[in-house]
Amino acid sequence: MEKIQMKTPLVEMDGDEMTRILWKMIKDDLLTPYIDLKTEYYDLGLKHRDETNDQVTRDSAEAAMKYGVAVKCATITPNAARVREYNLKEMWKSPNGTIRAMLDGTVFRTPILVKGIDPVVKCWKKPITIARHAYGDVYRNVEMRVPKAGKVELVYTSDDGTITKKELVHQFDGPGVVQGTHNLDQSITSFAKSCFEFALSRKEDLWFATKDTISKTYDHRFKDIFQEMYDTQYKYKFKAAGITYFYTLIDDAVARIMKSEGGFIWACKNYDGDVMSDMLSSAFGSLAMMTSVLVSPHGYYEYEAAHGTVQRHYYKYLKGEKTSTNSVATIFAWTGALRKRGELDAIPELVRFADKLEEATIATIESGKMTGDLARITSLPNAESLDSEAFILAIRDTLEKIL
Ligand code: NAP
Ligand code: MG
Repeated sequence: MEKIQMKTPLVEMDGDEMTRILWKMIKDDLLTPYIDLKTEYYDLGLKHRDETNDQVTRDSAEAAMKYGVAVKCATITPNAARVREYNLKEMWKSPNGTIRAMLDGTVFRTPILVKGIDPVVKCWKKPITIARHAYGDVYRNVEMRVPKAGKVELVYTSDDGTITKKELVHQFDGPGVVQGTHNLDQSITSFAKSCFEFALSRKEDLWFATKDTISKTYDHRFKDIFQEMYDTQYKYKFKAAGITYFYTLIDDAVARIMKSEGGFIWACKNYDGDVMSDMLSSAFGSLAMMTSVLVSPHGYYEYEAAHGTVQRHYYKYLKGEKTSTNSVATIFAWTGALRKRGELDAIPELVRFADKLEEATIATIESGKMTGDLARITSLPNAESLDSEAFILAIRDTLEKIL
């Protein structure tokens, strides 16, 4: 079989520990035998980030903006222990944070559904993708303990001094607490745009929810920005794509989601997204089966697995022991990126290959061949727990049969 040719390179961001080992296996066993893989390679492994003073992370984000599509391996976010372990010059920031700030993007997380790994919520038949607004609110708050009786006010003064606004927060009779939070029209607008664009590219309905009945100015601003953008820019595109935009109150959204079939995108404010994404990933079964894509309002895409570098497995691997590490989310990061590249460059064979590789991965698990994390929770009677490489080779066998 002739290898599939690519036009534009994918931006390849390599990473750390066990996921770095899987990364190479996936490329060697599942991709390069079939695709003349064209990538622009950036090594975001912690050692190389340290050597380049983290310049490589910024360079990789620049490349993502140049080419439009990137695929990223999980990376270590250093803490004090990592600074000692790798003898780092500095406690470098999270690469994901740096890339997200440069791309101004929103992260969408989607579970991968397979028969035999059943969601806790029985009516969920299709994935629910969650999008978390990653700026402001309680994550950038200012807070204070109020020591004794007194007045707390909210005061705004414009830079030129022409406008002042003042609101009484509370007249305290005794001690208490107070908090100030903010958000920006510009950030909410970027978030909304990423959500509408992603819904269109996936052809799935978009839900958004806030508490605008209680928060008549703050949350209402989110609702208004979404609605105005929908009305002026997306109404007709959504209609043409056969999808809908649905706004409701956050509590109503939660209640409806528990009774839904899934198959839509749920945009959440920062705190709701933080909490609800953990609920969804555990209810869908496993963090190892969750993919993640960063979508920028300018149309750049960066695909990755939602889990980390699986450090505990890596230490076993270093001791020469076999690990049974799940590569599914990392495989889907590659297929997501290859499919997007294929769509943008009009290479139908590449899109088809991405579909087939996903199909082969799911069929392999459904035939009973899986990694230990899934074997422990599956309802399939014939489950067999394979080591990391044997699982990837089993996918390759399935792929050979369906290509
Ligand atoms: P983790 O890598 O997600 O792993 C936590 C545990 O979850 C593992 O020990 C393993 O459980 C299970 N697990 C996760 N992914 C798995 C997979 N693919 N296959 C099988 N089991 C899997 O989280 P962590 O150990 O807390 O973090 C390790 C490093 O990852 C940290 O340095 C952190 O900074 C980084 N991290 C990076 C990203 C990213 O780049 N996007 C995200 C999160 C964390 P058992 O040990 O019980 O088998
Ligand atoms: Mg959380």
